[in-house]
Amino acid sequence: MDLRTAITQGSTLLEQGGIAVPRLTAEVLLAHAIGKERTYFYAHPEEELTELGWIHYGRYLHQRLKRMPTQYITKKQEFWGRDFLVTPDVLIPRPETEHLIETVLAECSKVQRLADIGTGSGAIAVTLALELKAEVFATDISMPALSIARINAGKYGSPVRFVNCDLCSVFDAESLDLVVSNPPYVPKNAHLEPEIRDFEPFLALFAGQNGLEIYPRLIEQAFRVLKPGGRFLAEMGIHQSDALQQMLTQGWIGVHTIADLVGIPRIISAQRTNV
Ligand code: GLN
Repeated sequence: MDLRTAITQGSTLLEQGGIAVPRLTAEVLLAHAIGKERTYFYAHPEEELTELGWIHYGRYLHQRLKRMPTQYITKKQEFWGRDFLVTPDVLIPRPETEHLIETVLAECSKVQRLADIGTGSGAIAVTLALELKAEVFATDISMPALSIARINAGKYGSPVRFVNCDLCSVFDAESLDLVVSNPPYVPKNAHLEPEIRDFEPFLALFAGQNGLEIYPRLIEQAFRVLKPGGRFLAEMGIHQSDALQQMLTQGWIGVHTIADLVGIPRIISAQRTNV
């Protein structure tokens, strides 16, 4: 069978299985199976698929039909222009989270010491360490996640210091210029696609009944470890902006939100007062 036919057949299977964007997915899986870029198919549609290629492709199609996210099959997700290793030990970085990077670069490009709390794949910390001349720390309560984050930092020679701890507990008082975080914020009973619900790490997603269980502790700890005038930036879920603004009244100034591309307030930014 040639590559073009393999794509058409895979795409049909995925479509029948109710998988979104079936053709693109088939192309991505086939490219991964034969170790080539997708553009290869446009130049070589008539090339025969090897038996080994078939075995890999068949397995990947089967995994995707079982709703495993494509990124866990190919083990990568692009974030801020770089490919990050992802496994089911870490959340797959989302495009919305790039707004966190954008906001840091726009609002706090001169920071010297910062920490990414709940780093997961390390996408935020690794990116910031490469984009800013700052000392970057990253924490996670999950050891398996930190192993993945360390691989991602190593891949790009990004000098992040990783720490296995709960939130900001390891840092000294008033020692950081910036705390960033994409914490778990999904309500426990939220309706989620099986790709997320059945494959992504529970610990990275859910935060109690209303999704707001982590923020009070995170904000309290961020206040402790930030220098006076330091900044706190966090990602949040839909309908969480009011609750978060309430948590950032005493001791915080300049509280504002930044919307994502569909207009949902997605990032909250605040500055610790000078006292
Ligand atoms: N944005 C993720 C989602 O869509 C959730 C990430 C998080 O909880 N921090 O499910």
